[in-house]
Amino acid sequence: MQKVRLGIIGTGIAAKKLHLPALRKLEDCFEVTCVCNHTEPKAKEFASMVDAPYVLDYNELLKRDDVDAVDIMLPVELNYQAATDSLRAGKHVMVEKPIAATLEQARQMADYDKKYPSLVTMVAENFRYAPGILKAKDIISSGSIGDVYSVHWDDFGLMTADVAYAHTRWRIEHKYPGGFIMDGGVHNISALRTLLGELDIKSAKTLSINPDIGEIDSITMTFETPDGVFGCFNDYFSSNGFNENRLVILGTKGSVILSRHKTNELVVVTGTNIAEQKYEFDYSDSYTDEFRDFYHAITQGRQVISTFQEGAKDFETILNALKAAGAA
Ligand code: NAP
Repeated sequence: MQKVRLGIIGTGIAAKKLHLPALRKLEDCFEVTCVCNHTEPKAKEFASMVDAPYVLDYNELLKRDDVDAVDIMLPVELNYQAATDSLRAGKHVMVEKPIAATLEQARQMADYDKKYPSLVTMVAENFRYAPGILKAKDIISSGSIGDVYSVHWDDFGLMTADVAYAHTRWRIEHKYPGGFIMDGGVHNISALRTLLGELDIKSAKTLSINPDIGEIDSITMTFETPDGVFGCFNDYFSSNGFNENRLVILGTKGSVILSRHKTNELVVVTGTNIAEQKYEFDYSDSYTDEFRDFYHAITQGRQVISTFQEGAKDFETILNALKAAGAA
């Protein structure tokens, strides 16, 4: 099998904890040929983990002939420039979510498939590949729970001192709207859009409970889809004593309940005339599957699922909620 020679740009939490384990499962597909981090200890450590050379300036990585594609995992405000420079250098691009720091950047990036038609452009939005979300989509499409009329997603957690994300300087001093609501909430929005289509934000309210983690850390938003499905999404990052991540999809004949605890995703289908079904998944498969999609797009010319256009729409939807709350 032809291997894609991959350059890693940014060797922080996502690189070590999420992308590297996925790449290790796909050693037939990817070979890491160069690593970049602007601070040497982190570059060196990651380079030793993948047995590849490292550079401190990503432009040096982009000049290399042995890099076909890049995996960008940088502070969000650098996504636009790094992705643009990589495409100009002729590299396929997978960039972490949220796609960019401003709507203008996101919209420009949404046109990159036309500007760089021979290169693959993909947002690493792993919720688009999450097995529980895809199962819920299949169940909705099968009609077994009837017509979906309402969805409710409660995502309550606490950024405690032992959570690495709470200490990332670029997250706390975010140079993009919404702070954790954008960085974390964009996942849920991508999943809701995968399940239901476009979301028209009807109302939103934001709160700042712990100003140490950014300008705001809590949002309740309501929305409606073109099919008239009404929904509510609660995304709370300073919820003390209550930790829950549960999506409830209500249909006229039954319901789907999707909950996640660490990397375990549980999907339950239930209703008065439905024999209860339970499905369990490993959420970390979503990272492997996004890399598989990237690989097949590069080697077989297929369209990726998580396009820049979808990433831009996810960004815009969260932004619309922030605007509705007067927080952007
Ligand atoms: P992080 O730990 O801060 O990693 C970013 C890395 O980029 C750091 O190692 C940083 O080095 C380095 N860096 C900063 N500026 C650079 C530059 N100009 N050139 C080269 N390297 C530079 O952040 P993270 O948590 O990994 O997040 C990175 C991205 O992944 C974000 O887009 C985030 O939203 C996304 N993410 C996605 C998921 C998911 O589930 N899909 C989860 C986590 C994160 P220093 O720390 O030394 O400055």
